Amino acid sequence: MDLIENLENAFAGKEVEKVPAASIVSVALIEGMERTGAGFPASHTDAEKMVTLGESAHKYAGVESINLPFDLAIEAEAMGCEVDLRDANEHIPEITASPFFDDLSSVELNDDFLSSGRIPVVAKACQIAREKYPDVPLISGQIGPFTLLGQIVGIEYLMKCLATEPEAVKEGVNICADAVIEVVKAYNDLDLQGDCMYEPSIAADLLPPEMFNEIVRYPLKRISKAADFNIVLHVCGDTTPILKNALDVGYNGFSFEDSVNVKEANQIKYDLDSNTQLVGNVATDSLFKGDLESIRLETFKALDRGIDILGSSCCVPPGSPLKAMEAMVKARDEYYEKGMETKREENEKALSWKPVYVEEPLPVANCHELPELRNKVLKI
Ligand SMILES: [Zn+2]
Repeated sequence: MDLIENLENAFAGKEVEKVPAASIVSVALIEGMERTGAGFPASHTDAEKMVTLGESAHKYAGVESINLPFDLAIEAEAMGCEVDLRDANEHIPEITASPFFDDLSSVELNDDFLSSGRIPVVAKACQIAREKYPDVPLISGQIGPFTLLGQIVGIEYLMKCLATEPEAVKEGVNICADAVIEVVKAYNDLDLQGDCMYEPSIAADLLPPEMFNEIVRYPLKRISKAADFNIVLHVCGDTTPILKNALDVGYNGFSFEDSVNVKEANQIKYDLDSNTQLVGNVATDSLFKGDLESIRLETFKALDRGIDILGSSCCVPPGSPLKAMEAMVKARDEYYEKGMETKREENEKALSWKPVYVEEPLPVANCHELPELRNKVLKI
């Protein structure tokens, strides 16, 4: 199977040989770090080590992609925040200080943003990975604008401002979107097959769904338009209340958790005539526990219900065994070996049934118009 062509077909909504088991969300496992010697924090700052860790899930578990980087602090750091990279394989970097803390009006984008912090390291790692693996999808990632704003001004303060100064929040989100767009434009030259934009803070419990359009729709659209590669929006938690919004902001994919019913998402996608593909949603819990039978059954369920790119529901927990990822890929293979895709095709067809008569006005009891109405109804 040509992995790149297969993933590109999935993003384009075309027929695929098998639903890709390419990870769109980050998959940096402690077992991979121990096997390769590329642990944290070195693999956050050293491009070669970043590739070594980024390729490990492909090499040892058959995941159909190379994924990097592994943390969400890169853009905040380039904007001038202090970051503790933390010295342990199980810990991801943490933002410890920000020049914009508790002050929305101070948020600005520095001139040397793109050349600051670790953005150049990620770009270099992508180039190395591309040369080393010309036939494997390369997936990168960055933070989303609302989450970035929360990181740099403080999430509690941002929540307060949402209620008191929504205009200032909008402005701040747009400045953060400018930052994300700079990263996306720089990544446009890297021959990526996919990219995950992590926007956990627009989950319904943080940003009220009725504020989605007002606060984040425009900046999210600006970012999706700037990307020349397949860009996927990832939101954590139960995103059912914002499915209609998330599938209508121009992303090539929407990655969501296991609390979302793929069938319901698929119906909304169909009704919106959206080109945003569904990505996910095998539970991180099952992956972390290495519960191979649950992983197998959840894979079948997601495939039956129309997932377009199979993967973890959220970033794969670092403590998950490589075997868990392998079990997901193998379950996908088993699904096709047993001819189970007929169920998927039936479900997909069921979505395309549209009751044409609903759009016709109901006949009114008027005897003069009856013959005409009867003819009209018979034609339907
Ligand atoms: Zn998530």
